[in-house]
Amino acid sequence: MKAVVFEDIEEMVFQEVPDPKCEDDGLVIKVKACAICGTDIKIYHSGHRHIKPPRITGHELSGEIIAVGKNVADYEVGQRVAVAPAVPCGECHYCKRSIFGMCDNLAPIGYHHDGGFAEYMAVPRIAVKTTCVNVLPDNVSYEEAAIAEPLACAINGQNLSGVWPGSTVLIVGAGPLGCMHARLARANGAAKIILADISDDRLEMAKVAGADVYVNSSEKDLEVVIPPETEGRGADIVITACSSAEAQQQAMRLVAKRGNINFFGGLPKGRSMITIDSNLLHYREFSITGTHGSAPDDNRMALNLISGGIVPVKDLISQTIPLEKTVEGIGMAETGRYMKIVVTP
Ligand SMILES: [Zn+2]
Ligand SMILES: [Zn+2]
Repeated sequence: MKAVVFEDIEEMVFQEVPDPKCEDDGLVIKVKACAICGTDIKIYHSGHRHIKPPRITGHELSGEIIAVGKNVADYEVGQRVAVAPAVPCGECHYCKRSIFGMCDNLAPIGYHHDGGFAEYMAVPRIAVKTTCVNVLPDNVSYEEAAIAEPLACAINGQNLSGVWPGSTVLIVGAGPLGCMHARLARANGAAKIILADISDDRLEMAKVAGADVYVNSSEKDLEVVIPPETEGRGADIVITACSSAEAQQQAMRLVAKRGNINFFGGLPKGRSMITIDSNLLHYREFSITGTHGSAPDDNRMALNLISGGIVPVKDLISQTIPLEKTVEGIGMAETGRYMKIVVTP
């Protein structure tokens, strides 16, 4: 089959590789869609501690089952599925508490196992066993199903930061994830959603997300803008959907008393130290959560929200590209001029 193989930093090569084998307890899918994620950009330039090359990357994916292991009873050839990439072990301390996203032995697809930038992909036994394989509702396309994964990450973020009906939500970062957060916040009952970004182009693209207020935070200071938008209280929930230490620090000056902050976007390696005014936290009693991934349940929820039209994602797909253009697609994603780019092998 054809695949794009991560061989080394900035060396992802489109090439012929052996077809994947079907384990007795696993599946093989024909990959139909694999979206490019911000993480794919990071991996391309810096590698990843869990990726030992050569490795086929790509973790936001969907496909059609073409082979079913002889011990697998719950799936059949021809089914349309999305595979949640964060494969938990099902046995550790966290898995026993059903906190699968925090599994001690997480073995994500595209990192520990070959991923979706390929014509075919083996779904490992453990992913089948831990319910990472979700059959798609009929009205969800493969492309939409691929970006159910980032939506699942947003669901995990909002579950932990507790967006409540009637709340005011400030989202810093108007990329595809910022837009998904805005739509999800609406679905969670937020009364006012403010979307901020430092780029006018991004804010323009993000108009589809249906936020109530859009702010260019490079032109206007959020500490001036947010108080009048929130009756002086600050935002009940602040989600930093960007990779900015400054945004994380400022979030603490923008959040309401007893509010919640979610550090959704991670910071670059080696530049992840931030300063906290401890008294601000002490007197205003807000909380800070960090989230970074999703669990199989979040992925099922994401597919249901897409299927039900509650969180539409179709219009967040800027472009679909063929497998051989994957590296080009990563470059396109890096420009920030697109929402999601989806590879359709
Ligand atoms: Zn991703
Ligand atoms: Zn585990």
